[in-house]
Amino acid sequence: MSESTTPEYLTRALNMLETFPVQEPEPAEDDGAYVLPPPAVHPAKIADELLKLPEFGDLATGGACIEWLFKRDEKRKGGRQVLGTAHLPKVQGDLNPCFVWMLERLFGRPPDFLIILDKTFWYQATPKLREILVFHELSHCIHKTNRSGEPMYDLEERPVWGLRAHDVEEFTAVVRRYGAWNDDIKSFCAAIIAHAEETQVSSGAS
Ligand SMILES: [Zn+2]
Repeated sequence: MSESTTPEYLTRALNMLETFPVQEPEPAEDDGAYVLPPPAVHPAKIADELLKLPEFGDLATGGACIEWLFKRDEKRKGGRQVLGTAHLPKVQGDLNPCFVWMLERLFGRPPDFLIILDKTFWYQATPKLREILVFHELSHCIHKTNRSGEPMYDLEERPVWGLRAHDVEEFTAVVRRYGAWNDDIKSFCAAIIAHAEETQVSSGAS
């Protein structure tokens, strides 16, 4: 993950983009901990459309292979439910070839990115919420750059992919595209404005 200089209060608010207040637990279903999304509700359908946006130009140009899984069991972070996580699907050491082989068996090819979504949320969410979540997760997926900001390539001239932590730019991209769509984001916007005003008034460092 990239190092972030985002202030703590912004990080907290940015985390809210992909978490929800915890509600009553769903009754457990008798299926696997992870499942491939069924074609009818597959997130890739939404992602394919979003990848045409300028925000994701690098992913589209570089031909990033993105695969998706649904997760049955709820994950919590700070009393909130995690709706999605983006990963570079690699493991350390000698196990990696075996892991890559398993991914090939599962997806037909080893993906550059693996995005895992909360299954219960996905089935309950409106199309717009699903799209916002996919947009958010895709925002974590980037073409890595070197210190001078140049895009990096491997020896076979394939892009070197990376993950980006929550940052203000990514947050503003979501708000620009979708507006302040829930109360958390509204209070986040209010916090930014208040913070900006405070900084102006005191003209001190923040
Ligand atoms: Zn996120």
